[in-house]
Amino acid sequence: MLKNKNALITGSTSGIGLAAAHVMAKQGINLVLHGLMSESEGETLAKQFADDYGINTLFDGANLSDPEEITAMIERVSNQMGGIDILVNNAGIQHTESVDKFPVDKWNAIIAINLSSAFHTIQQTLPHMQQNNWGRIINIASVHGLVGSVNKSAYVAAKHGIVGLTKVVALENANNGITANSICPGWVETPLINKQIEDIAAAKNIDMAQAKHELITAKQPKAQMAQTNHIGELILFLCTDAASSITGSALPIDGAWTAQ
Ligand code: NAD
Repeated sequence: MLKNKNALITGSTSGIGLAAAHVMAKQGINLVLHGLMSESEGETLAKQFADDYGINTLFDGANLSDPEEITAMIERVSNQMGGIDILVNNAGIQHTESVDKFPVDKWNAIIAINLSSAFHTIQQTLPHMQQNNWGRIINIASVHGLVGSVNKSAYVAAKHGIVGLTKVVALENANNGITANSICPGWVETPLINKQIEDIAAAKNIDMAQAKHELITAKQPKAQMAQTNHIGELILFLCTDAASSITGSALPIDGAWTAQ
């Protein structure tokens, strides 16, 4: 059922997005790989996926903080591959600092990349999905789309925003064969959180393993991070027929973080 569908996964050059790309490619889903990577590295990655999985692939390096680059990417994909059936808004960045000192440029970048880019990609991919009466929109939010934490004003605002945006898209398309859901992970082992671990290690003069344990257990009851492919498998499930009534949801995968 999913073979030969076209998926765009933003931020699929690293972490959760890259793992999700492997999970989806195994099902024969054609992929637009995307992220901040040189054109030649991106093309090598896309060719590797095409060779390994026998799927059509494309790489695009659009900077998601620029709406014009997003538009150019979606147009290029439509022209070269056909429309996007599965949209995974995954790319994201982080900056931690108290709100009174939070740099304005970091605020603007986090809102643009973690939230507004999803509005643009959704707006531009919906017409194709509506025409086909089939589509899947999966937004990678965070537990921080459901609860707050200190020093993460922009990230928490953007992630709450994307949970809200997802609900509206689900409501507006409830009878169009399109589902829209947010996934809300707790800690996941990726480069995104390295700086937070390094900061704890430096502040407490402890090694990286101890710092990682402190970071996880400060909020998350399960003292282990989720693996990137666990998120990828949930994304894949949301694409199946069995998940066609799951829409408008914000699904935690968070080691009981938000159960408290
Ligand atoms: P990562 O740093 O490994 O990957 C981020 C991806 O986004 C990369 O491919 C990068 O190139 C891309 N990206 C960053 N800025 C971009 C820009 N301006 N334009 C285009 N692409 C850009 O991070 P990750 O941990 O895999 O995060 C993926 C998503 O999961 C993010 O939305 C993040 O907020 C969310 N998340 C992560 C965790 C975690 O613990 N790692 C927890 C909850 C939610």
